[in-house]
Amino acid sequence: MQRPYNFSAGPAAIPEEVLQQAAAEMLDWHGSGMSVMEMSHRGPQFESIIAQAEADLRELLGIPDDYAVLFMQGGAIAENAIVPLNLSRGAKADYVVTGSWSQKSQLEARKYCDVHLSASAHDEQGYGSIPDNAAWSIRPDAQYLHVCTNETIDGVEFHFVPDSHGVPLVADMSSHLLSRHVDVARYACIYGGAQKNIGPAGLTLVIVRRDLLGHALPQCPSAFDYALVAANHSMFNTPPTYAIYIAGLVLQWIKRQRFGDLVGLAAVEARNIAKAQLLYDALDASQLYETRVARECRSRMNVPFHLRDTTLNAAFLQGADAAGLLQLKGHKSVGGMRASIYNAMPMEGVQALVNYLQDFEKHRA
Ligand SMILES: *Cc1c(COP(=O)(O)O)cnc(C)c1O
Repeated sequence: MQRPYNFSAGPAAIPEEVLQQAAAEMLDWHGSGMSVMEMSHRGPQFESIIAQAEADLRELLGIPDDYAVLFMQGGAIAENAIVPLNLSRGAKADYVVTGSWSQKSQLEARKYCDVHLSASAHDEQGYGSIPDNAAWSIRPDAQYLHVCTNETIDGVEFHFVPDSHGVPLVADMSSHLLSRHVDVARYACIYGGAQKNIGPAGLTLVIVRRDLLGHALPQCPSAFDYALVAANHSMFNTPPTYAIYIAGLVLQWIKRQRFGDLVGLAAVEARNIAKAQLLYDALDASQLYETRVARECRSRMNVPFHLRDTTLNAAFLQGADAAGLLQLKGHKSVGGMRASIYNAMPMEGVQALVNYLQDFEKHRA
């Protein structure tokens, strides 16, 4: 069966091998006689699944031992509250706004602390750039500086680690975590929902430096108190067991990936660079399509683009669907189209999209 290529921004495509393995193990996981969905989260089988997932995540990202890995729920939108509840001490927190998601983050944080915008990239065109890091106004006594390192809606990605002048750096990495190498030690806290690049919706990953734990505000729900979640190895309440299992299979899939001489995350990153290049080159070469994001911060994962003749939008999407290229419609706040090309999108899928872009331009524009 040839499945169509799914360009959804999230929940997004999952590697076919992972879906097949999950299907094969659905009724009887490793001779247990149970589906993973049916297991106690405190039994030895599930204990081994979550321990392996954590070990693989630590290995792939080189997470230092002084960081806790938390498997939580609520997605990045819940983290917009959970982060200030845990890390702001009800005092000052600084935010950089480079797109719709970081904008949401800073608005939510205002419920819990004194928020200051260190920089904002919004202009008449919307978002599409990152203000010069050297010009950010960072309060030296801020408890943390928050950034969103890949703006899923606007297609803006940080290709550098921001200098936060010693203020702990917190990053929403929902839509590019595990798409590239990340120097975890330069961040105080990294979080992200799994449903973009890691697995099914329902799981949120948090990687947080242990010395920052233990200062949650009194009103912080216990299930969202990082210190309690860490002390209980993500079992303070029932974790999203099936989503953790699938994420674990995806992590093992990443470890098996090869691209040229590269293996694992390095291979995935090199392939992502090649995929993005193929797509941006095609868009840049065209008269019909345009991208509005500054070149130096174009996202490798989410590629918004516009048809200069917007009357062709409906025909473009209809033809794409018929060609097996699904979910290309852009986010309503940006309009146009968006191709999300996460880890699970093979090079062939991007090539099929490029072929379609060129064919559509030739015959319809
Ligand atoms: C998808 C996304 C979110 C929202 O995630 P939820 O799971 O809906 O809470 C927040 N931030 C970024 C960067 C995202 O890509």
